[in-house]
Amino acid sequence: MRLFAGGLVGAVLLAAGCAGRIAPPERAVQPGPDPGGAEVEVCLLVAERLTRPLFAGIAGWSGAPWEQVIGSVLVRHPQGLTIIDPAFGQDIARDLRRAPPWFRVVMGDARGKRPLVELLEEVDVDPLHIRHVLLTHAHWDHAGALPDLPRAQLHLAAAEWRFVGSLGRYLEHGTMRHHFEGVGGRVTRFDWTGPPHGSFPASHDVFGDGAVVAVPLTGHTPGSTGFFLRGPGGKRWLLVGDTAWALEGIRRPAHKPGPARALADGNSGQVGLALGHLHALAAAWPQLEIVPAHDHGAMSTISPCRYDGAGLASTGRSTVK
Ligand SMILES: [Zn+2]
Repeated sequence: MRLFAGGLVGAVLLAAGCAGRIAPPERAVQPGPDPGGAEVEVCLLVAERLTRPLFAGIAGWSGAPWEQVIGSVLVRHPQGLTIIDPAFGQDIARDLRRAPPWFRVVMGDARGKRPLVELLEEVDVDPLHIRHVLLTHAHWDHAGALPDLPRAQLHLAAAEWRFVGSLGRYLEHGTMRHHFEGVGGRVTRFDWTGPPHGSFPASHDVFGDGAVVAVPLTGHTPGSTGFFLRGPGGKRWLLVGDTAWALEGIRRPAHKPGPARALADGNSGQVGLALGHLHALAAAWPQLEIVPAHDHGAMSTISPCRYDGAGLASTGRSTVK
């Protein structure tokens, strides 16, 4: 979840923050054997992009810029077009108007925030053709377009579904519960019953072919999930949602700024363990692209979706449609 609208807010909160040490993993982190799997085309849809100071995204001082993004990943799978983290719905302006004033101050209004359906239309994809939605977590900026994808099956960790069900207020723990109204009959909840994957002790193979494999990243929310993607040529990504907002949070590793950590991360201790794990994994597996959801540089390792005149060209190598 994005929590800082500007450098000023970040600076104020930084002053009250602290770095928060992250211990290395107790056991060595290794990529593990590659189980292989199907390759899928993936592309990026950018809903909002901003430049902020890095100290708004990680604990500790840095004057470097942070290219922040909110967006969705489109996966072309034989079982149907799939969206990971449908960011903003067509009702984004109303969503924000109904939120408390402090939230609008931090998040801004709807200007510059593009609904997913607009982004899909630009690449000639009918939202009714989206068959599956996967969530790294349930926060407002990762699930806002769920109501606009009425034929999609929603896949999420069982713990995240229970988390959503526990919410009562309009905006609670970064989540707008109404985004989930109407999806009840189209939900696939999963537990971590699959084998170890990469350096993770358990997994869930979303389509059963190794193309998209979920792994647990509990902490930011109870059911926060990472997704390993296998792209053309065996390219591998690990989408880590908001475990870190900026890739630098994994490189150092570093938590979010102190007050943001307290507000945004449901369990900061578990986030610290996950950051330590990802930091070690990045060293052990340099070819893996580890992708925090709000780091434009990391997200841009996934090619932007584009329309080539005949259909969606997701990789520049083939036409999707
Ligand atoms: Zn987020």
